[in-house]
Amino acid sequence: MTVQTEGWSVTETGFSLQRIHHGETIFTIGNGYMGSRGAFEEAFPGEVRSTFLHGVFDDVPVFFTELANAPDWMELEICLAGERFGLDHGTLLSFERRLDLKTATLYRQVRWRSPKGRVTRLTFERFASLADVHLAGVRLSITPEDYQGTIEVRSGINGEADNLGAKHWEWLGQALKGRSAWLQCRTHATHIELAIGIHLDVTAGSRPARFSRWGVRNHPTLAAGIHANAGETVTAIKWATFYTSRDGPNPQRLMKRSLRGLPELDWDIHREQHMRAWQAEWERCDILIEGDPEAQLAVRFNLFQLLSAAPRQDERVNLGAKTLSGYGYRGHSFWDTEIFMLPFFIYTRPEIARHLLSYRWHNLAGARRKARENGYRGAQYPWESAGTGEEVTPTWVQDPDDRTKLIRIWTGDIEIHITADIVFAICQYWQSTGDNDFILDRGAEVILEAARFWASRVEWKAAQEQFEISDIIGPDEYHDHVNNNGYTNVMARWNLQTALELVRWLKQHQPSRWKKLSRSLALKESELADWQHVIDCIFISYDPSTKLVEQFEGYFHRSEVDLAAMEGRTESMQSILGIEGVNETQVLKQPDVLMLMYLLPDLFDAEAVDINYQYYTPRTDHTFGSSLGPSIQAIMACKVGDPAAYEHFMRAARADLFDVRGNAGDGIHGASAGGLWQAVVFGFAGLKRTSDGWTANPRLPENWSRVAFKIMDHGRPVEFDIKKESVAASEGVQSRTSVEG
Ligand code: BGC
Ligand code: BGC
Repeated sequence: MTVQTEGWSVTETGFSLQRIHHGETIFTIGNGYMGSRGAFEEAFPGEVRSTFLHGVFDDVPVFFTELANAPDWMELEICLAGERFGLDHGTLLSFERRLDLKTATLYRQVRWRSPKGRVTRLTFERFASLADVHLAGVRLSITPEDYQGTIEVRSGINGEADNLGAKHWEWLGQALKGRSAWLQCRTHATHIELAIGIHLDVTAGSRPARFSRWGVRNHPTLAAGIHANAGETVTAIKWATFYTSRDGPNPQRLMKRSLRGLPELDWDIHREQHMRAWQAEWERCDILIEGDPEAQLAVRFNLFQLLSAAPRQDERVNLGAKTLSGYGYRGHSFWDTEIFMLPFFIYTRPEIARHLLSYRWHNLAGARRKARENGYRGAQYPWESAGTGEEVTPTWVQDPDDRTKLIRIWTGDIEIHITADIVFAICQYWQSTGDNDFILDRGAEVILEAARFWASRVEWKAAQEQFEISDIIGPDEYHDHVNNNGYTNVMARWNLQTALELVRWLKQHQPSRWKKLSRSLALKESELADWQHVIDCIFISYDPSTKLVEQFEGYFHRSEVDLAAMEGRTESMQSILGIEGVNETQVLKQPDVLMLMYLLPDLFDAEAVDINYQYYTPRTDHTFGSSLGPSIQAIMACKVGDPAAYEHFMRAARADLFDVRGNAGDGIHGASAGGLWQAVVFGFAGLKRTSDGWTANPRLPENWSRVAFKIMDHGRPVEFDIKKESVAASEGVQSRTSVEG
C-alpha cells in the first residue's frame, strides 16, 4: 500500500494485508457525536471494525471502563450473481481508497474479478453527517462489467458487535418494516440505551429491488435483490440514525422520528449540507502551507481528525487520547486534551473548547473524591478520565513482550501534574476569549479547588524550610517515583499563584460572586495565606549558576546513554532497556523541563532555554518515546533556532499517516495532532501574545514559502499570512497581519 499525500486527499492505492489496521485508523470518519473506523463495508477477516459514540462507556476488566463498540451500521454484504464479494478472495484488479478532507467523505473504488472470473466495478462513499450528527450514510454502486445476473445487497444492524471480544450490549428490541429496520439495546453495566435505525434503498436506474427481511435476533437484516445487465449500475444507499439515552429520556422515540424521514432524504442534498458544515469548519480552522505539499496535507489530516472527534453539542464528554478512532487507551482522556489538543480549539473553535473544559467542571465530584481518598483536599483530577470523572487508569496490565507477566501502572497513583494542566487550559481559554461567565460559573471553582489540592499535597521539610513534592511521575514517564519534578513543582506553584490572582480579580470585579463562591467552598483568608506560603517556599530545582533545571532530584546522577550511537533502532528505549533499566538512565520519553519552558516562557530567559534545550535534547527518545514529544520539541527547536525543528515536526506529522511508531492501528494520536497545530502557530509562525496584541516571529522551514491561518481573539478572527518573500525582503522577519471584524 502506498499513501499519497497531495492537496486535500489522503489516498491509498493498492491493498495490503499487513496494513489493514493502519488503514482503518487513518480512514476514520466522524462528526463529534460518533466515529467509525475505516473498515470495509463488506468486512475482512481479522479487521478491527468499530463505531464509537461519545460518552457511551461501559465497564470492562483491567481498564475499568471503555467506549463500547456500537452495533455495526456500516455492513453491506454483497452477492454478485451468487458469488460473495470480498477482498479476501478473487482477484483485486484495482483498489483506491481516498479520504477527502474538505468534504469529510471516504471513497473506495475497487475492480474485482470473482473466483468464477466475472469482473465487477464497485464504488463506496461514506460519511458521518456534520449537518445532522445523528446521521451517517453509505452509498454503493455496483457495475457488472462482463456478465449479467442478480445483484444482492444485504444489510442490517449487527448487535453482536464486541470490543475485541468483550460484549457490552444487551438486546432490548428490534423490528423490520419495508426497507427499514431498527435495533434497541443497552450497555450491560452503565445502562446506556442506544437506538439505531437504518433505511436501505437499492435501485438500477428507476427499477427498485425486491426486498426481503430477516428477523435474526440482534441482527435485523434487509436483503435486496435486483437483476443487472452487463454495464448497468446498481446503486444502494444506506442511512443510519443513532440516538442514545444520553440524548434524551426516550432514544427510541427520537430514533423513530428520524427513521421516518430517511426515505425522503436525498443523498446529494444531504451531502451538500454536510459539506457546507465542513466548509464552515475549514474557514475557521484551516492552515495553508505553500511549498511543502506533504506538510500541508499532514496538517490538514490531523486537524480533520481532531474536528471529526470534537463534541459540538455535548459538554459532558472529553476527547480520548485516540479520539474516537480505535481501542488504544479505551477512549480515556489524559492531559493530552488540555495541553495538546485544546489550544487548537481555544484559538479556532472556542465553543468546542468550552465544552471540553466544562467536562472537567462537571466531573469535579470525581476529582474531589480522588483527593479525599488520597488524604488531600480540593480536587485532584484523575490521570485517566472517562464517563464519570473517576480515576480509570488501569493498575496492572499485561506485559506486551511477555504475556505471563503483569506490569504495575503507576500513572493513576502518582502522575499528578494533570490537575495543574487543566487549570492551565482554563486560563488560556479565558485569556483568549474573555469569557468571564465561564470563569464565574465553572472555571473559578476548578482553579480554586485545584489550588487547594496542591496546597494539601506539598510536604513541608522543616530542615530545609521548604515545601517539596515527593514520589511522583512527571511528564517524562520513563522515570517514576521521583521527587520534586521540576515541571510538577513549577506548575503547582503557578496554579496557586493563578488562584490567588483570580481571588484578587473576583474581589475587585465580582465581589458578590466572590462572597458566594468563597462561602460555598468554605475558603477563608487564612487558607489563602497558606497558599502564599507554599508559593514562597516550594522547592524549584533551578540552579541560577548553570541555568539548568534538574528534571527531578538526582536526575543528574543517573547514567548517561549515548542515544546518537543507537540511531536506527526500531524500538523505544524503554523496550530496549526495560522499565527499571531506563529508569536508571537519563533517557527521557518526552520533553519535561522543555515542556515547562514551552508552557511558562516568561519564567526563563533565552539563555536558560538554550542551555536546557542543548542539555535535554540529546537525552530524549524522540523516535520511539512518547508521540507527544516531537511537536513540542519542534517548537522549542524553533525558539533556539535549531534547524532540526523540521525533522521533529515531520515526525509528528507522519505519526499516523505513515505509522512511524508502528501503533497507528490502535487509533489516531490525538495529542500529536493537536501538537502539530501548535508547532505551526507557536513554533514556525512564532505567534506570541503581547500587551499590544499578537505578534509573529516566523522561522519557516526552508521549503515553506507561505503559511496562513486565523486565530480567534475575544470573538474576532485575527488573520496571519506569512510569506517567505517578506522575510527575505526585510532584514529580520516580518509578517503581515490584519484584524478583521
Ligand atoms: C501510558 C500511561 C497510561 C498507561 C495505562 C501507559 O502506556 O504511558 O500514561 O496511564 O499506559 O493506560
Ligand atoms: C505519554 C503520556 C500521555 C499518554 C496518553 C503516554 O505514552 O507518556 O504523556 O498522556 O501516553 O497519550
